[in-house]
Amino acid sequence: MKSYDAIVIGGGPAGMAAALYLVRAGVNILAVEKLAPGGQMLLTEELENYPGFPGGIKGYELADQMSEHVKQFPYDKIFDEVREIIPGKEFHEIVVDGEHIRTRAIIITTGVTFRKLKVPNEEKLLGRGVSYCALCDGNFFKDKVVAVVGGGNSALEESLYLARLVKKLYLIHRREGFRGDKCYQDKCFSDSTIVPVLNSVVSRIVGDTEVVGIEVKDAKTNDYSILDVDGVFIFVGFNPVSNFFPVELKLDKAGFIQTNCEMETNIPGIFAAGDIRSKKCRQVVTAVGDGATAATAAFAFLEHK
Ligand code: NAP
Repeated sequence: MKSYDAIVIGGGPAGMAAALYLVRAGVNILAVEKLAPGGQMLLTEELENYPGFPGGIKGYELADQMSEHVKQFPYDKIFDEVREIIPGKEFHEIVVDGEHIRTRAIIITTGVTFRKLKVPNEEKLLGRGVSYCALCDGNFFKDKVVAVVGGGNSALEESLYLARLVKKLYLIHRREGFRGDKCYQDKCFSDSTIVPVLNSVVSRIVGDTEVVGIEVKDAKTNDYSILDVDGVFIFVGFNPVSNFFPVELKLDKAGFIQTNCEMETNIPGIFAAGDIRSKKCRQVVTAVGDGATAATAAFAFLEHK
C-alpha cells in the first residue's frame, strides 16, 4: 500500500496553500484534486478583495499563480475523487479509484457545490437556460434578458458581471434587503441594466426545451406573475462537498466540518481548511489562511508522532 506523511484533499486556495506549506517544510505529501486546481476561483470573473492586487485580479489568473507557486516543489498528485476516508489509530486511509492509500495526516479542503433552488424544471433545463456560473455561460445571453436569483455576494457580484453582457437583468431576492456587501449593493442599484425584484420567490422555471420565463410569487401579496427571461442564473449559497466523510467526523447542522482555530477536527490527524469548514467568512483570503494554519498544525502533529 502506498504511504504518505500527509494527504491534502482538494486543490482550491486552501488546498494549494496547505500543500505549499507542507512541501516547503519537507513533508512527503500526496495532493488529490478532482479537476483542475483553483476551485471556486476558476468560476470568479474578478477578485476585488484579495490583498496585493489593487486593480483586482481574474479568478483564473490567481488560481494559475498559486498553482505555479506550489509546482515549484516536487510532490505527488492524483486527479481523481476521494471515495472514502477510513480513520485509524496510527494511520488513516483514503480510497481513490479503488486503491487504499495510507497516511498519518489528512487535510480536507473540498469546498462547496452550488445549492439548488429545488423548483420545477430547474434540473430539466440545466444547460438550456438554467446556469450556476455566469463566467461559464454568460456569453450565451448577450443582449438577452436574464434573471439572477439570490441576495448574497455571489448573486450581486455575478449580476454586475452579467449586466455588462445582457440587455436586462432581473435580480430576484426573497427578502426586502440584500445580504451581500454594501459596495456590491450600491453598484447593483446604480446599474441601469439591473432591475431588483425584492420580496419575491421563484416558484417555477418556465419552458419546455429551454427557459422562456420564471414564475415569481410576491412574498407580501402571495400573487404569482411570470417574467419573460431567456436564462436564469442561480446563486443561493453553497452546500459542502462531503460525500466521502467518515461518520465519526463532527459536522455542524449544515454539514460543514467543525474545527478548532488550529483547523483540527475531532479526529486526531484529520484537519479541515477553507469553505468546507464551519465558519462565517468564506473568502479566498480566509481559505489561504486556513490552509497555512492546517498545514502548520499537521506538521506539528507529524513532529509529535
Ligand atoms: P450566501 O451569502 O449564503 O447568500 C445566499 C443568498 O441566497 C441569500 O441572500 C439567501 O437569502 C438566498 N437564498 C438561499 N436559499 C434560497 C432559496 N431557496 N430561494 C431564494 N433565495 C435563497 O451565499 P453566496 O452569496 O453564494 O456567498 C457564499 C459565501 O461566499 C459568503 O460568505 C460570501 O460572503 C462569500 N462570497 C464572497 C464574495 C466576495 O467577497 N467577493 C463573492 C462571492 C461569495 P436570505 O438572505 O434571505 O437568506
